[in-house]
Amino acid sequence: MNHYRSQAGMIMSQPDTQPWRLGIVTPRPSLPGLLLENPAQILAIALVYLLSVAVGIFWVLSHHRQRSLRQRALLFSREARQYAGEVQDLYENAPCGYHSLDSEGRIVKINRTELEWLGYRADEIIDRRLYRDFVTPETREAFDAAFQQVLGKGQEGAAECELLCRDGTVLPVAIQATAQVTEDGFQYARTTVFDLSERKRLEARLERQAMTDPLTGLGNRRYLEGQAALEIARAQRSGAPLSLIAIDLDHFKRINDSYGHDVGDLVLQAFADTARGQLRDGDVLCRMGGEEFAVLLPDTGDDEAMQVAERLRQTVVATPVKVGGDVNEEGQLAYSASLGVTLVNAGETSLKPAIKRADQGLYIAKEAGRNQAHWQPV
Ligand code: GH3
Ligand code: MG
Ligand code: MG
Repeated sequence: MNHYRSQAGMIMSQPDTQPWRLGIVTPRPSLPGLLLENPAQILAIALVYLLSVAVGIFWVLSHHRQRSLRQRALLFSREARQYAGEVQDLYENAPCGYHSLDSEGRIVKINRTELEWLGYRADEIIDRRLYRDFVTPETREAFDAAFQQVLGKGQEGAAECELLCRDGTVLPVAIQATAQVTEDGFQYARTTVFDLSERKRLEARLERQAMTDPLTGLGNRRYLEGQAALEIARAQRSGAPLSLIAIDLDHFKRINDSYGHDVGDLVLQAFADTARGQLRDGDVLCRMGGEEFAVLLPDTGDDEAMQVAERLRQTVVATPVKVGGDVNEEGQLAYSASLGVTLVNAGETSLKPAIKRADQGLYIAKEAGRNQAHWQPV
């Protein structure tokens, strides 16, 4: 085989087998060669290539970024919607009432809890009613004062008042309000309302307990003092007489010593029942302590008070206590009481002087042999 070099490349011939076979082998183009041959074109191609690659990468990256931004925005708006829903739910169904009032006190917003308390629908109230219309006349002054504070410089106000519900019930509440103010001035009073009924019930129960004797269920000395203040004021207004009877069971220590403390307790309870049965509704019977009792008798003058005392004394004697056991064959224990009776003087502003007089009468009754009622004049 013969090889000839030419411009185009290598020319080969095989004269032995074929007269001519022409083969042209072009040289493999190399980058430096091409660069040397046509540098501008090659550079332009490379530039276009690089540019397309860059554009491609940029597109992929920005597409990816946009997609993740879209996803984040979607997530954010879903979370925002969920959050708004939760806030709305908390507002509507909170265990307390929420409402907003404009500067005139008109209800512009109110939550479901408070609507249920009041017994109205939102459309019956919102933009139609003043909140103070739902406050009882007795507590309206406190509400108005608190609302003025919210409108004033302090921008805050609080009051305890009572709400008048649709069904006629009264709900004790604590109201706390703050002013929402922008550069345009007062916008509305945002108010939280707490239901106080449970607290009031508890307070009333504790108050009752504090004024009740647990053994007999009668009021105690504190209860008598409270009732006396009311009755004295009423008697002074009306000019009606007011009487007091002090009672002490006779030889009570003996009962305890002979039959035991439990029997003594039964006697105290029996006396309370017996005395209750002899008194009118308005009379105030209470246990002052130990085996000492008192009765405040409104609209009762001296004669009538003495009659009540005498009737009480006789009924006690005639009503032995069923104690069972081996007290006697009938299982009954007879007992008696001594009583001191007096009038509450028209000029007396407390029960103290009358208690003192009634005790003096009682002492005299004891000295005179017990089981009797003694009148002690003013
Ligand atoms: P008098 O006729 O002079 O009143 O004599 P008395 O024994 O009734 O009076 P005294 O003051 O000596 O005794 C009162 C007794 O009452 C003494 C006390 O132990 C008893 N007592 C006080 N409170 C209770 C109570 O809650 N239950 C019982 N069972 N006894 C009580
Ligand atoms: Mg006594
Ligand atoms: Mg006694």
